[in-house]
Amino acid sequence: MSTSPSRAISVLTIAGSDSGGGAGIQADLKTFAAHRVHGLSAIAALTAQHTRGVTAVHAPPVAFLRAQIDACFDDFDIRAVKIGMLATAEIVDAVVDALAQHPELPIVVDPVMIATSGAKLLDDNALGALRGRLIPRAHVLTPNLPEAELLLGRAIDGGAAADAALAALRALGAQGVLLKGGHLHEGDEVVDRYADAAAAFTHRAPRLEIDGHGTGCTLSSAIAARLALGDDGAAACRAGIGYVHRAMRDAYRPGRSDVSVLGHL
Ligand code: PLP
Repeated sequence: MSTSPSRAISVLTIAGSDSGGGAGIQADLKTFAAHRVHGLSAIAALTAQHTRGVTAVHAPPVAFLRAQIDACFDDFDIRAVKIGMLATAEIVDAVVDALAQHPELPIVVDPVMIATSGAKLLDDNALGALRGRLIPRAHVLTPNLPEAELLLGRAIDGGAAADAALAALRALGAQGVLLKGGHLHEGDEVVDRYADAAAAFTHRAPRLEIDGHGTGCTLSSAIAARLALGDDGAAACRAGIGYVHRAMRDAYRPGRSDVSVLGHL
């Protein structure tokens, strides 16, 4: 009689591929492996990309995206989903429809819109579907400051405005919101703010001076992995912030520019 190992905990990323291996699906899978969970991927968009920028974007047919998602759910023990770059309104709708069949599953939504390099990763007309259909389904929403400004339609120009934005983002319907402070200079510190119905925290850390790529993707994937392993939203976000800090500390430079990708060892 053969003994077979128990079924592994799996986490699904629905996001964009980065041919340069720094952000997107590639960062997500490295993050999942570092958390010792099995990583699944449904590729919602392909980018041709290196450390200097995005040179082309291609969205697959939505039926094919749906086939990838359904194949994953047909076989694996999926305990959490991370959502990243979705590119178009059609893709946002397809993802919302696919996830409607799994209402209990924790979902981390990273509302990817514009890359650090300036490349546009979401069509303008997809913002409404993201805000109105996907965000209300999120267990944890992880916007950076520019994304929060686009979601709320107003500037966030200081700590008090960021506190108010956190509450306004929660009113969009996500259970928990982690507002990332990397784009705001509050002294020499980066201030991340989290709140859900049961918990809230503010995390302050000295700014790490690296030109890093893929930090947002890595953070949302680490949070999804921690949720899959049983953390609640606040604990998962704290652990995710710590993981990204270590991965930034261990960053290395793979391309010809000064941009680094995160270390995941
Ligand atoms: N490429 C893809 C596929 C992404 O999902 C993202 C961000 O989420 C980026 C690029 C941008 O990464 P960064 O802004 O860290 O350079």
